[in-house]
Amino acid sequence: MKSFAMETRAFIGGNFVTAASGETIKKECPADGSAIEGVPSCGEAEVELAVKSARAAYKAGVWRNKSLKERKEVLLKLASLMEEQREQLASLDTYETGRAYRNYYEDSIPKAIEVVKYFAESIDKIYDNCVLPSSSEFAAIIREPLGVVACITPWNDPLVPANWKIIPALLMGNSVIVKPAEQSSLSIILEATLAKNAGIPDGVLNIVTGYGDIAGKALALHNDVDGVFFTGSSEVGKLILQYSGMSNMKKVGLECGGKSAFIVSASCKRLKEAAGVLAASMFYNQGQICSAPSRAIIDNKIKAEFMEYLKIEAQKYVPQDPFSPESIVGGVVSKEQQLKIEQYISLGKESGYAVFQFSGKNTPRNGVFPTIFENVEPGSRLFKEEIFGPVLIVLGFDSLDEAINIANDSIFGLAGAIWTDDLREVNYAARNIEAGIIHVNSYGNDDNSVPFGGYKQSGIGKDKSVYAFDEYSQIKTVWVSV
Ligand code: NAD
Repeated sequence: MKSFAMETRAFIGGNFVTAASGETIKKECPADGSAIEGVPSCGEAEVELAVKSARAAYKAGVWRNKSLKERKEVLLKLASLMEEQREQLASLDTYETGRAYRNYYEDSIPKAIEVVKYFAESIDKIYDNCVLPSSSEFAAIIREPLGVVACITPWNDPLVPANWKIIPALLMGNSVIVKPAEQSSLSIILEATLAKNAGIPDGVLNIVTGYGDIAGKALALHNDVDGVFFTGSSEVGKLILQYSGMSNMKKVGLECGGKSAFIVSASCKRLKEAAGVLAASMFYNQGQICSAPSRAIIDNKIKAEFMEYLKIEAQKYVPQDPFSPESIVGGVVSKEQQLKIEQYISLGKESGYAVFQFSGKNTPRNGVFPTIFENVEPGSRLFKEEIFGPVLIVLGFDSLDEAINIANDSIFGLAGAIWTDDLREVNYAARNIEAGIIHVNSYGNDDNSVPFGGYKQSGIGKDKSVYAFDEYSQIKTVWVSV
C-alpha cells in the first residue's frame, strides 16, 4: 500500500495536536487491511481547546469582520490549492474508505472543489431585507453568524457533504469545528492545512478527529457551541437533537439516512435507460449513498421486461480493487460494514425472496456483490431499514396510488423518482411522494445551486444552494425610527 507523508493529527487553533490521553483511532485500510495509525482519538480536553480557540477567534472578529470580498477571495484561493492537491486528496480518501480512486479523482474531489467555488462566488450575491412598516420607521432584517459551529460528517464521501456545511458556515463568518467520521479523517485534515495557507485565520477552522460517541458527543453537548450540523445516520441524528436539548438549545441541522423509492410506470417508454440509471444510482460506491434508490417499485405490466434490463446493468457495478485504473467500484468501508450488509443478504435469502447476485473477478477485500431481491414484503426489515450497501429490493404495483403508498411507507423521506411518459402521473407523483428531492425520468442529478435535504426522519434543513446560508445564520431585526 502506498504510504503518505502527511499530517494525521487534529488541527486546533492553527496547530497540529495529539490527544492528551495519547489515544489514537484504531482502524485499517479497507483495501489491504494494513493499520492506519496516528489519527488522534480526541476527547473532552481537545473539544474544550477547540471550542475555546473557535470562540476566541470569533470574539476577536479576525474572520467575521473581513469584508465579503476578502472572505470570498480566501475561499477561492482554497479551491485553487485543493485543485493542486486533487491527486493527494483522492488517494487519501481511497486509502481510508476503499472506494474506487477513479470515483474520487474524477467525481468527488472535483465536486468538493466546486462546492467551495460555488459558495465563495455566491456570498456577495445574497441580500438581506428591509421593511417600511410606517412613514417614520424602517426595520432592517439582517443575517448574523451563529458564532461557533460544529460540523459532524460521515465517511461515505468524506469531502463533499463536509464542504456542503463547512464552506457556507465559514462564509457567513462563523468559527467552525469539524468532527470527521473516524473512518475518514485524512483528507479533511489536508483541506484544513490548505485553508490556513489560503488565509483562514487560526481558530476559525478546527478539525477534532475521534470517535462519535466521545468527541462528537462532547461537541454536540457543549454549552459554548451555537449550532451543530450533522450528516450521518438517523439514529445518531436523534441523539444530536437530544444533546441540544440537554445543553444550550443549540441550533441543529440534520442530513440523515434514506430508503428512497424509484417508481417505473408502464407508460415509461425508456425502460432500458431507466434500468441503467437505477443500477448506476444504486450500486455506485457499493450502495453507500444516502440517497441511493434502494426500493424499486415497478408496474407489474412491465416488471419482467424491466428486470431483464436491470440484471444486465447491475452486472457493471461488481466491486474491484479500488486502486486499479479500470475500477469504477471498490469495496465497502470496513469489515464491520461488510458483515452488516451480508447479514441483510442472508436474511433476504432465508426469507425466500427471489435473489439475483452478481459476481466478478479481482474482488477487493471488503467487496460485496450487487444483490437484488424481488417481491420483498412491505413491513419486512429489508423493506424498512437502510442497509447502506449494494442491496436493492424490488416490488410490483398495479396502480399509481399503490406505488405512492409503498413509496411513502417509510420513516425516511430523502429522495424519490418516477419514470413515466404521462404528464399527469408526473404531477401526481411529484406532489404526493413524501421526500425532499423528486427526480422525474432521472436520478441523482446534482448541482450546487439546488437544495438537498430530506423530509421525515431523513433530516432537518438543507445543504447546498443559497438556502444553505440560512442554516449557519440567525435573523436579527433592527428597528429604526426617523
Ligand atoms: P453515523 O451516524 O454512524 O456517523 C456520522 C458521524 O456522526 C460520524 O462522524 C460519527 O463519528 C458521528 N457520531 C456517531 N455517534 C455519535 C454520537 N453519539 N454523538 C455525536 N456524533 C456521533 O453515520 P455513518 O455511518 O458515518 O454514515 C452513514 C450514514 O450517513 C447513513 O445513514 C447515510 O444515509 C447517512 N448520510 C446522509 C447523507 C445526507 O446528506 N442525507 C449523506 C451521507 C451519509
